[in-house]
Amino acid sequence: MALDNHIESILWTEEQISQRVSELASQITEDFKSAPSSSAPVIVGVATGAFLFLADLVRKINLPITVDFVRAESYGSGTESNGAPRISFDLKNDIQGKHVILVEDIVDTGNTLSCLIAHLKSKGASSISVCTLLDKPARRKVNFELVGKGKFYRGFECQDYFVVGYGLDFAELYRNLPYVGVLKPEMYQ
Ligand code: 5GP
Ligand code: MG
Ligand code: MG
Repeated sequence: MALDNHIESILWTEEQISQRVSELASQITEDFKSAPSSSAPVIVGVATGAFLFLADLVRKINLPITVDFVRAESYGSGTESNGAPRISFDLKNDIQGKHVILVEDIVDTGNTLSCLIAHLKSKGASSISVCTLLDKPARRKVNFELVGKGKFYRGFECQDYFVVGYGLDFAELYRNLPYVGVLKPEMYQ
């Protein structure tokens, strides 16, 4: 079956995402443009879900940024978080004294983000901002705190659906959809 046929409905189209990513990138550029090049932000993508968002976002940020990755694993192959996440892949670069912007696909319970913020804070980042494509505030269990003058950027507020596409998976599938949507119920079986 073609990939499109697995999807029940599209929540955000490729065009809507692209437009919103441009707005977020402009906001980030504006907020950090007065900093000297030596303290330009480090954009940290949270693998794997943020890979498309990160790729599109950084190409629209008009600053001399650097890019790095972390991986935090809390999900099995299901749709529910299975406890406190574990950092299974760490940064390559030193972030001591740097402004970090953590790029996430979605903030759900907040567990992953609070764990990652604590981790990056312990490495001496001077500020930690978060830029997430999607936010599900209704499901928040853990409140995360930004560090220093860090800001919270978000693309869209998401209702309590399990969504896939544009980096977000179900059992590692659907990351390559260019839009964000909801799966047909039979695809979970
Ligand atoms: P949290 O730790 O905030 O509960 O969850 C964060 C991670 O859970 C996200 O980075 C993402 O990988 C996964 N997640 C949460 N909600 C969804 C969703 O609706 N769809 C998908 N595909 N993953 C989700
Ligand atoms: Mg994620
Ligand atoms: Mg996942």
